[in-house]
Amino acid sequence: MKLKAYGKINISLDVIGKREDGYHLLRMIMQTVDIYDELTFEPCEEGIHITCDKEGVPTDKRNLVYKAIELFKNTYEIQGGIKVHINKNIPMEAGMAGGSTDAATALKAMRDLYKPEVSNQELMDLGVKIGADVPYCILGGTALCEGIGEVITPLKPFKNKVLLVVKPNFGVSTVSVYKAFNIKEVKDHPDTEGLITAMEKEDVSYVAENMMNLLEEVTIKKNEEIQEIKAFMVEEGSLGAMMTGSGPTVFGFFESKDKAEKCYEKLKGKYKEAFVTTTI
Ligand code: ATP
Repeated sequence: MKLKAYGKINISLDVIGKREDGYHLLRMIMQTVDIYDELTFEPCEEGIHITCDKEGVPTDKRNLVYKAIELFKNTYEIQGGIKVHINKNIPMEAGMAGGSTDAATALKAMRDLYKPEVSNQELMDLGVKIGADVPYCILGGTALCEGIGEVITPLKPFKNKVLLVVKPNFGVSTVSVYKAFNIKEVKDHPDTEGLITAMEKEDVSYVAENMMNLLEEVTIKKNEEIQEIKAFMVEEGSLGAMMTGSGPTVFGFFESKDKAEKCYEKLKGKYKEAFVTTTI
C-alpha cells in the first residue's frame, strides 16, 4: 500500500495563552500544500521496520511513524508486523509538519489494513497522543486549529493557489522557538476571522497581505536570512510572504505559476529545498 503524506503551511498563527503544563494555546489557520512524502506499507511476520531514503531521519522508535503504528497496534490489539518505507520530500525541522503528517498517514494506513470501522474522530484522538499537529494532518485541507492545535474546524477549501516555498539551509527546533516566545511582548494579533472571510472569497491578495504568524519575530531575531527571503520574494512579485509554523521555511503567494517560477529560478541555486507548488 502506497500513500501520500502532505505538508502544510500556516496562513496564520496566533498564541492566545498558555496551559498550566506549559503548552501554548493557539489559533492557527492551516493549509495543505502539494508537497508530500510517499509512504509504502507492507505487512510482515512481526515488528515495525522503518527505512527512509533521506539521511538524518531516525528509523527507530523515535520516528513518529513508529510511534503511530505502535500506538495503533496496542490500542486495537493488532498482531503481526509491518514494513514502512518513507520517501522524504517535505523539508525537515521546517514548520511544515513533516513528521506529523507521516504519523497521520501511518494511522490511516493501519486503519485501512486492519480496522476500517475506526472513525476519523477516533483516529484523531489517537493522533493527538503523538503530536498536536497529527489530528489536523489526518483531515488535511483548510482548517482552523485551536487548543494546542488539536481542536479542528474545517474551513471552505482554499485550493489551487500558487506558492513558492523556500526552506533556508538550516533547521529550527519547534520547542526552542516556543521557549523563546513571550506572550507579554505581543502587540498585535492576527485577524483570524478577517483572513477566514477573505479565504472564503478566494481573495488571495488580501490573504497574502494580511497573513500573520506570531512566531516569526522570535525565529527571525535569531535567523535574519528568513527576513531576506521574504523581502526577496516580494521584490520579485510575490503578493505577500511569510514564515510557516515555527519556521524557518518561507512561502510566498504569486498571481501565476510563471511569476513564481521566475522567482524560483533566482533562488534555486542558493536553496536546495525550494518548490513551486499549490494549495490543495
Ligand atoms: P512542525 O511543523 O510540526 O514543527 P517540523 O517541520 O518542525 O514539524 P519535522 O520535520 O516534522 O519538524 O521533524 C522534526 C524532527 O522529528 C526531525 O529532526 C526528526 O528527528 C524527528 N522525526 C521523527 N519522525 C520523523 C519523520 N517521519 N519525518 C521527519 N522527521 C521525523
